Amino acid sequence: MFCRFCGAAGAHRFGKDRRHRQRYKCPHCSKVFLRRTNTVKSGSHLSDPQWEMALKLFATRAGMSAADLSRVLGINPKTAQKLNRIFRHVVQGLRPHSIPGVSEWDESMFSKQWVLGGVSRDSRQCLLECITDRREDTMCPRVLRAAGPEGLVFTDEHLGYNGLYRHMTVCHSREFVNSDARFVHTNTQEGIWGHCKTLSWHIYRGFPKASLPQFLSECMFRYNIRIYSTRVSVLSALLSRKTNSYLV
Ligand SMILES: [Zn+2]
Repeated sequence: MFCRFCGAAGAHRFGKDRRHRQRYKCPHCSKVFLRRTNTVKSGSHLSDPQWEMALKLFATRAGMSAADLSRVLGINPKTAQKLNRIFRHVVQGLRPHSIPGVSEWDESMFSKQWVLGGVSRDSRQCLLECITDRREDTMCPRVLRAAGPEGLVFTDEHLGYNGLYRHMTVCHSREFVNSDARFVHTNTQEGIWGHCKTLSWHIYRGFPKASLPQFLSECMFRYNIRIYSTRVSVLSALLSRKTNSYLV
């Protein structure tokens, strides 16, 4: 048990608070705190089992909309919305910085906003980000930064990708797998669009444009961490991190 104020280890139990939650006292700074003090949960009136249930539902393959979450937990829909927002906010830090090796890139429209998506065939990690337009000077620097100078990039024949080196294309008006080189296709990335679009239609009734980056990080979180139990433990570790800012 680490101290939520100074980070020192070795805090010992120190009675209960009026909601019967375990209190701890730090031997170093002798401050008294709860398990949730100075984490994103501090100040929340929800109980630990409610937080855990909401966390587990967020880590499932499709997640749960705020309306459903409020019905399952028996809480206010606004509170459920806030919970989902906190989860989306904390998983934003997990987005990959680079997707090296062989990668597929494509762009798609979400709520009248272009999104550029890439997935590495080596690490199976995907990267989704909002872009203002599909011009070459918008897309190429982003692809190059993520794929790196050594990366081999597969795209469709959109002109916005013309500035890339180490680049192979598949003509989507004719075929979905390059008939001369069968390994050149963008079908993995098309599959990721499939995951995101169905989530957007069936769970959330469309991603709102203003918070699209947060919803994209939710998609990346589920895709990049394949195993449910890993997602649960990563998310609960992120929630019990010491933080000084109130998020939502
Ligand atoms: Zn301390």
